[in-house]
Amino acid sequence: MSGDRLYRDSAVVMRNYKLGEADRIVVLLTARHGKVRAVAKGVRKSGSKFGSRLELMSHARLLLYRGRDLDIVSQAESIEPLAPMLSSLERASQGIAVLEAADLMSTERDVNRGLYDLVVRALRTIAVRPGPVVVPAFYWKLLAAEGFRPVIDRCVRCGEAGPLVAFDVGEGGTLCRNCRSGVPISEAALALLGDVLGGRLLDALDAPETPATHELATLATSSLEHHVERRLKAAAVFERA
Ligand SMILES: [Zn+2]
Repeated sequence: MSGDRLYRDSAVVMRNYKLGEADRIVVLLTARHGKVRAVAKGVRKSGSKFGSRLELMSHARLLLYRGRDLDIVSQAESIEPLAPMLSSLERASQGIAVLEAADLMSTERDVNRGLYDLVVRALRTIAVRPGPVVVPAFYWKLLAAEGFRPVIDRCVRCGEAGPLVAFDVGEGGTLCRNCRSGVPISEAALALLGDVLGGRLLDALDAPETPATHELATLATSSLEHHVERRLKAAAVFERA
């Protein structure tokens, strides 16, 4: 192995699947190299040198060898324990939701430090307090970071300050009574969304489960789906060109 093809980076394991008898392919979100697909050799054998450091949701410091299609994981050292994430079904499913969204919104070898930081922060929050707002807040932050910050302080169509009664994913924000389209939004859900996007995230994360947190979650999921679909369509056009 030549030295210039070796590199170190920190990464979260977003996905992994079996390869042959003993190996595994891991899809990593790295801090400095974007999304990377790599082979972890012998990882499924008992007594593997990797231990559990390349399981789904693991956060590890890695030594990687750059390959032509897939890189190869040479060393892995744990940054934080995985055990808290696996301590409840709620934590595990929230962690997986964060990773699936990050995987959909990332491109191979496309460096995105902001996304990596956002994912690491979300997983750490889930490990200590997996409230009903953590995953939707992550989706909104992710969308805002990608340039899809919704308009929530006026009607996105006519500019009227309020009252704002609906949210239209396609329009990218809230709507007044006259212009309403999309889905209805309650005042409480709009206030939560304002907290999430307006620098009062910590207050929002403490919110107990209410109809408003459900609304926030449903809206976050449909917004993310809308943008992922647009991304996939844009990528398809790009590939045909
Ligand atoms: Zn309007």
